[in-house]
Amino acid sequence: MEGESEPEITESQREGRPAAFASLAHQIVVFVFTATFVTAMLASWVAIQSSRSSLRETADRLYGVSLRQASERVEPWLVAMRADLRCPPAGQSATPQAPWVGQASFYTEPTPTDAWGEVPQGAQAALRADTGIALVTLADGRLGVALATLPASREPGCVGIARFDALAPVLALALPSDDAAFVLTDASGRALLQTGDTSFLGNAERLPIENWGQERLRETRFGSEEILAATRSLAPWGWRIAIVASTRSLYAPLVASIQRVLLIDAVVIALFCVFAYRVTSRVTGPIGQLSAVARRVADGETALEIPEPPQRDEIGILTRAFNAMLRRQREYQTEIESTNRRLQDRYAALQQATEVLNQLSITDGLTKLHNHRFFQDHLTREIRRVERAREDLAMLIIDIDDFKKLNDQYGHAGGDEVLARIAGILNAAVRGGDLCARYGGEEFVILAPNTDIEGGYALAEKTRMAIEETDFLIDEAFEALKVTVSIGVAAYRGDRKAFFGKADQALYQAKANGKNCVVVHPDDLA
Ligand code: GH3
Ligand code: MG
Ligand code: MG
Repeated sequence: MEGESEPEITESQREGRPAAFASLAHQIVVFVFTATFVTAMLASWVAIQSSRSSLRETADRLYGVSLRQASERVEPWLVAMRADLRCPPAGQSATPQAPWVGQASFYTEPTPTDAWGEVPQGAQAALRADTGIALVTLADGRLGVALATLPASREPGCVGIARFDALAPVLALALPSDDAAFVLTDASGRALLQTGDTSFLGNAERLPIENWGQERLRETRFGSEEILAATRSLAPWGWRIAIVASTRSLYAPLVASIQRVLLIDAVVIALFCVFAYRVTSRVTGPIGQLSAVARRVADGETALEIPEPPQRDEIGILTRAFNAMLRRQREYQTEIESTNRRLQDRYAALQQATEVLNQLSITDGLTKLHNHRFFQDHLTREIRRVERAREDLAMLIIDIDDFKKLNDQYGHAGGDEVLARIAGILNAAVRGGDLCARYGGEEFVILAPNTDIEGGYALAEKTRMAIEETDFLIDEAFEALKVTVSIGVAAYRGDRKAFFGKADQALYQAKANGKNCVVVHPDDLA
């Protein structure tokens, strides 16, 4: 179609194999890879998302329950501890033996105020401000709880070393998992007690509990760590119990299963790709073979046979059909070749026959000289040539004298013999470039190029004498026969009709002059 250009053929296509990545096998493998990869990724993503949210929901529920349980255990403990921290009666110093020591289960020993030299100033200040309670770190590193019970003196009433470590196993029982931890803090967020794995919290003095969820887990950051944390306030002193877990460890099983899923995905994708490649290769292999053979057939080869696969599938059918087609083509080709050969032979014979016919059509059968028709054509060509080359051209018309009588005397066969003989004499007399033809009956004509009127006359005289001197022996005659001819000669002067007319008139004159002579037309003598 107009405007459409031929698609470019690449080198590899010309060689019968597709360009890299244009092959069916590659395309199908890429398709299978993409399809399985996208499907696997989507399915995995959906599964991961739902696992993540269900894990989160479970954590919300479990951690919420745990936090409530922990606060229910810690709160009465603290209340009891506060009630137990009693001060010594007035005038008595706080000694371990004092009766106010009360239930020693919450604190190990009373600490006399004179031991407070090691207590930080801030703690004393807190007590003096009657905030009710101060946490103090004693010289040996233990944490103490101080209560102000002597409002009159504003002095710390008593101090007990709280056994927070006794709380640890109580809290541990409420832990929902190994990944979670409880942290008991005061109102400002200072950590008093930690259970479970809190390594991710480090040694922070103060925890940002205000950022953590109130009774509900909240995802937040702690330093470089992603954590889930929720707090719940406790009645005594505004302290709080918090449950925290590192997101990383919470989601660790999920991450492990994601890794497993991805590994399985990769194996499944690879298996599908290999399977697709093998199946496609089973199809494209024979198709490639067919393409290569088709290309060789297109280049003209037909003596080919494709190995037929044993399977009876579409490829097998196609291969067998292709082979059958090749066999038929070979038969057709053989047939066409033999027909061609026959046609060529016939054509050669025809050429030969045409050549013979052409030769016959311009040859006189009796004398083997050129005939009248050829003479006319030749005269046309010669006139054209001499006019161009400005050459001379002479014509001789030769007529046998008294030939009728000769016929009468020796019969037509004898006459024919004389005609053939004279033709031979004329042929011998002329030059290579001259034309000698039988004009008709017993008349001959010679066309002599590059010959002026004198040359023409000389040729005529030579011819006439040669005939006169010849002894004609014919079957019917017992002795040699003498034959003479009369010849009219003319030169070409630019007029074809006049040229022939002059030669004819000169011949007529030669007959009138008594025959056996040569006459040049008078116009050419001037
Ligand atoms: P002239 O000297 O005036 O030429 O007289 P002529 O007898 O030669 O001329 P005419 O024209 O009277 O006769 C020509 C004869 O030539 C008549 C014809 O029978 C004979 N002739 C023409 N063609 C052939 C031929 O092919 N074979 C034979 N044997 N005779 C022929
Ligand atoms: Mg005649
Ligand atoms: Mg004659």
